[in-house]
Amino acid sequence: MPECLPIPELTPKQIKRFWAGVQKGDGCWEWTGYCKCGYGALRLGQQCFRAHRVAYFLVNGKCPADLLIRHTCHNPLCCNPEHLISGTQADNMQDKVISGRSSKGEQHHYSVLTEKHVTAIKTKLTTSYHTLKSLAEEYGVSPVTIRRIKNEESWKHIEVAGFSPAAPPPCKSKLIPGLTEQQLQNFWAKVRKGQGDDCWEWIGYRDQKGYGRVRAGAKTFLAHRVSYFLANGKCPGNLLIRHTCHNPRCCNPNHLKSGTHADNALDTVASGRSIKGEQHRTSLLTEESVTAIKIACKTPYHGQVKALTKRYKVSAGAIQNIKAGRSWAHVKV
Ligand SMILES: [Zn+2]
Ligand SMILES: [Zn+2]
Repeated sequence: MPECLPIPELTPKQIKRFWAGVQKGDGCWEWTGYCKCGYGALRLGQQCFRAHRVAYFLVNGKCPADLLIRHTCHNPLCCNPEHLISGTQADNMQDKVISGRSSKGEQHHYSVLTEKHVTAIKTKLTTSYHTLKSLAEEYGVSPVTIRRIKNEESWKHIEVAGFSPAAPPPCKSKLIPGLTEQQLQNFWAKVRKGQGDDCWEWIGYRDQKGYGRVRAGAKTFLAHRVSYFLANGKCPGNLLIRHTCHNPRCCNPNHLKSGTHADNALDTVASGRSIKGEQHRTSLLTEESVTAIKIACKTPYHGQVKALTKRYKVSAGAIQNIKAGRSWAHVKV
């Protein structure tokens, strides 16, 4: 827990200034001054102190640096000494679990924003004058926190009229520019067009994942995306172009369709490709080689894993996983 510096003796003037910032009432006494990280903050000299800790200190004459001052009312702005008790971090967690506050949004114990703050942030996000950075500074949180609110990855349960989550960030695919006649010729020269419904395989340079890569100017593009672009006249940067044939080299426009990341994941699951072994497109091993590895592992010797990694060009981890049955468990020997 940050900000637990011992609180210095306050001058009468500072004490007066402090209580002037507290709106006393029947229930919570809310801090009306400057806030940092969702808590009231009081500047004393060079340092900033949490307002509720100052209140506790003024009433109890001490505020141990190693103790948390907890809000029994769960209102971080509250400075009502009756609502403040000291406790350890463990007490605090326990307390939160008991009161059921550890599940979402404000209830999350790392949360420094309150529902009130988030409502305000969401309202501000509906108008275009605020940037992630300006809101982050205003509320003393990181821009990532604001972005997560914006994308409804957090605080989803707070509803604000007119607020709609930002569109998911576009995937990093670059927009394909118009290709020159020469570039087009060069492109198709590297595609081996098959008969009928065969795959049209890219015979040029391929990246580590097995996808064809084509250079246009200073950039490189995925060959199958270029093919989709040429066939459809567009290739949206935020869409994946998927292979219905699951052949990463294929540039047959009939085997390409556009989809979102979610579609792709679903599709992969549906076709059973995400499940095991050889069917995984990044796998370098075949059932055959795994069978051989498993047989070899039955008679272990010193340096075997190293020898196998060399022979099959995979990592030691991959061999260990096979050995331990954590991968390729379906290959029985
Ligand atoms: Zn309170
Ligand atoms: Zn294909």
